[in-house]
Amino acid sequence: MPQYAEVILPLALPQNYTYRIPFDIAEDVAPGKRVIVQFGKRKLYTALVFSVHDNAPEGFQPKDIIEVEDKNPIVGPLQLKLWQWMADYYLCTMGEIMTAALPSGLKLESETVVLRNHLKKIEDSELNDNEFLIVEALTSQDALSIKEIGDITGFKNPLKLIHSLLGKRYIVLEEELKNGYRPVQKRLVRLADKYSGSGLSELFEELSRAPKQKDVLLSYFKLMGEASREDNDAPKPIVASKLLKAANSSDSSLKGLAEKGIFEIYYDQPEEDSKGGSTHDFYELNEHQQKAHSEIKQHFEDKDVCLLHGVTSSGKTEIYVRFIKEMLDQQKQVLYLVPEIALTTQLITRMRRYFGEHVLVFHSRFSDRERVETWLKLIENPETPYLVIGARSSLFLPFQNLGFVIVDEEHETSFKQFDPAPRYHARDTAILLASMSKAKVLLGSATPSIEAYTNALAGKFGLATMSKRHADLPMPEIQCVDLKRARNKKEMHGNFSHELVEEIKATLANKKQVILFQNRRGFSTMIQCQNCAHVNQCKNCDISLTYHKHIDMLRCHYCGYTRQVPSRCPACGSYEVKALGFGTEKLEDDLKLMIPEANIKRMDLDTTRKKNAYLNLITEFEDGEIDILIGTQMVTKGLDFENVALVGILNADSLLNFPDFRSHERAFQLMAQVAGRAGRKNQRGKVLIQTADPYHNIIRKVMDNAYDKMYEDERYERKNFKYPPYYRMVKLTLKHRDRQHLSNSAIALGKELRGVFGERILGPEFPLVARLRNFYQMEIILKFERSVSLNKAKESLLETINIFLSKNPDKKIQVIYDVDPM
Ligand code: ADP
Ligand code: ZN
Ligand code: ZN
Repeated sequence: MPQYAEVILPLALPQNYTYRIPFDIAEDVAPGKRVIVQFGKRKLYTALVFSVHDNAPEGFQPKDIIEVEDKNPIVGPLQLKLWQWMADYYLCTMGEIMTAALPSGLKLESETVVLRNHLKKIEDSELNDNEFLIVEALTSQDALSIKEIGDITGFKNPLKLIHSLLGKRYIVLEEELKNGYRPVQKRLVRLADKYSGSGLSELFEELSRAPKQKDVLLSYFKLMGEASREDNDAPKPIVASKLLKAANSSDSSLKGLAEKGIFEIYYDQPEEDSKGGSTHDFYELNEHQQKAHSEIKQHFEDKDVCLLHGVTSSGKTEIYVRFIKEMLDQQKQVLYLVPEIALTTQLITRMRRYFGEHVLVFHSRFSDRERVETWLKLIENPETPYLVIGARSSLFLPFQNLGFVIVDEEHETSFKQFDPAPRYHARDTAILLASMSKAKVLLGSATPSIEAYTNALAGKFGLATMSKRHADLPMPEIQCVDLKRARNKKEMHGNFSHELVEEIKATLANKKQVILFQNRRGFSTMIQCQNCAHVNQCKNCDISLTYHKHIDMLRCHYCGYTRQVPSRCPACGSYEVKALGFGTEKLEDDLKLMIPEANIKRMDLDTTRKKNAYLNLITEFEDGEIDILIGTQMVTKGLDFENVALVGILNADSLLNFPDFRSHERAFQLMAQVAGRAGRKNQRGKVLIQTADPYHNIIRKVMDNAYDKMYEDERYERKNFKYPPYYRMVKLTLKHRDRQHLSNSAIALGKELRGVFGERILGPEFPLVARLRNFYQMEIILKFERSVSLNKAKESLLETINIFLSKNPDKKIQVIYDVDPM
């Protein structure tokens, strides 16, 4: 029987930690199971067994494992292998990966705070004496850390009891309450009880002096009539947005009726959110889809990865559906990765209609409890064919029977995790996961990443192309507005050109919807003194503060620091301080003045902080309640709205002039994607791009829908200037509170590294934001040829840095590794 276990602790330790296995539990300890161990002075942790062996560790006396948590492993051998690969590849620790991978409920530690779940009544018969003591402790105090519970109850090891209580739902994690997921709600309207039946004529009488409200009431009865005719069982409830549309009326009339007690406004879950439901027949694939489908199948004969390059609205999703169906029929599991899960209500609805109960959804907006349940479902039913739809972290789920992976919108940068470690790319990691599982991978995009397209052209990946939109819908018509000219001719209304305003008005007159894209949120980008040019900076970061009008405050977009708007310049005392630049909030304001009758909403980080704000916005837009949606990147991602006829890009120049080797690729992707939201059904959409440089190479390529030409140019540049995918990159970010010390150390380290890697080392340099949250940072970049062994390069890198750091033990600078930075 093995005597020692190597365990992963949920901490950034450089290596796994060894514990002794006490004889009486030796049979229970196995890789993938959780154990409780003590680490540091008195702290208890849930750790995960990585391996068991008989080799006594040298140089220290290992502590005993306190207890085994699981009857069966909660992490499979495949996952442990993947974690190991990730730690090696992305230069991070297994603990960091475990922290990212496991939902909180599976990795309790002494500091975890739990609360009593008041929704659950105490059933004495369900609790043993010790569990009862804990529930008691939580009844008298609201929230307790696990350590505090240990102190109160005198239990040395409350973790096991906590696990059990969590399972029985008597307690919840504090984290879970904070992130409590609530499903989207639809606003519904019904007539107050007292009016159902009699009293209607009096009611209309009463409203004779409120004609608008009367209209709404009339429309209500009309819709009720239609609803009961359509449906024999129970008439469908009346949706507020539909009612207002039918009555051609505004929200205030509805509110007025509610205030008078005539209407009741209530909320319900939209039906698409309910699980299961009737399954739906597949669409018949059109000829382009059929061709692409069979090409992909062909490629999978001898390739593991295939790229589907299909223009927006070409029907890529329907092709995914075919592969999913085949896999589920073969009793295999499928992972469907999407860049931003909040945007995927539409997709989830579609998949539930096709695959019903097979669909599992996994993302950070779900409660931890739900995430734990999905995790356990997969581990306990290894053979069940599930379709898991999720954002990047779902690739950590314990698949044991994975047959297929889809990475939709493969080019999206949100597949890469920036902070904290592991700084992994979900597309690349998914390809590895698939190869470990002998599963195939289908990447899809209208604007593939240069990396993926290069691999496809080189024959490493298969390639299938669809250049026609579904149902022969034409690509949108794209026009430019020359901002320089418009400004000279005084044809600008704030940030809107005359053309754009006219197009917006014409679109609304046609009862169609508009999407406006602006890269920046907030009101202005900064507040500047007109006298001395002083700009208000964040006190923690080297970046100017952004003015947010609705809170009338200046705010830092990096650290969240906020302060009042100074009425006069803090530097010279002048009262002439002016807002410069513009964000989404300013656009919303300007547009409301120009087109007061339109219902305008904003979709950016500020308006979507609340859990279901996002989904509500999408639902309202789908229902036609919103006429104009102004948004940041969020509006570019894979949304499928039928009624959008116009897309406006307010300022293309801010996308193009970004100092990064990927800026042209990204600008093309963003513009092509947002343009793709126009005219997705029936009628050709229109896109207006405002720019001071209408002849810019990238803008021309967007207008001509010329991905291939853009790719050729980019490829040439990347090769010439030694960038990915032709060269590999590792970015080091060095941090310290003291600027001078950081700079000296960074220069010294740069010198050491140059001694090893020569010209392959760039920097150190201060990045755009040199100070973040009070830490100064500098970057050093290692760029090397693909022919150089990645492992060797990383080994020398780590060795050089570790020797350097150990030579300067005090005032140590912090080093952060980012492999394949984005
Ligand atoms: P993409 O993902 O390529 O942007 P989608 O798969 O979302 O495109 O398809 C665009 C629209 O066309 C969707 O509304 C979809 O339902 C519809 N569609 C796609 N393929 C078919 C088909 N074969 N038959 C009918 N409708 C289809
Ligand atoms: Zn000043
Ligand atoms: Zn800041």
